[in-house]
Amino acid sequence: MNKEINLIFHNLGLRTYIEVDLCAECPRQDDKGCCGHYSPVFYPTDLAYLYLHQADIIDRIFAFDHLTILDHSVTVNNVPDGDSYRCKFHSKNGGCLLEQTWRESICRHFVCPGIGWWEESVLQEWKEYMEKLTDYEIELNQRLAEALDEQGLSLRNPDQREKYFRVLIELYQKEIGQIPDFINRMPVQQSFRIVRPLHFGKDWQL
Ligand code: SF4
Repeated sequence: MNKEINLIFHNLGLRTYIEVDLCAECPRQDDKGCCGHYSPVFYPTDLAYLYLHQADIIDRIFAFDHLTILDHSVTVNNVPDGDSYRCKFHSKNGGCLLEQTWRESICRHFVCPGIGWWEESVLQEWKEYMEKLTDYEIELNQRLAEALDEQGLSLRNPDQREKYFRVLIELYQKEIGQIPDFINRMPVQQSFRIVRPLHFGKDWQL
């Protein structure tokens, strides 16, 4: 069965996301799709954005149990659910409880291989863009982590957390004042329709 799938690329720099209408009727038919196999990892750029725009999410993240907290990242580990897992931000009825821009980059960029939009020739510019954006985000997170290290700050130490965020926000605001040109060269939003054969249950590739 062939299905027309609508993709919308929302270019919001570090908060860029891909909207896919098929997610609402995920062919996995298990109420969780790709979110049943992933634990979101929040890095400095995510944490700084959330601190400035939706600080209560930071409190929610650190209130979960079974977190993996490293010096400059926090993973909200999923929980076993049936024959896979469930992300702690995922609700059976409404899907992800986080708005798109609050999610970390894998959650904002991931589209299942069953759709494989990157194979379309008309989407090669977006493919390159998403790759460049990923590299930029990794480099930026690395720079922020090194600067925080120099000040002896780590997320592992709850007593330092207030200072960690104060310093992170200063560094982040300086960095986002110099957004690279490749981000501004792409449209703010662009929609595409592609047609793919659907398979259901575990036959749909994630
Ligand atoms: S944070 Fe949201 S999009 Fe990411 S895995 Fe969890 S439920 Fe899915």
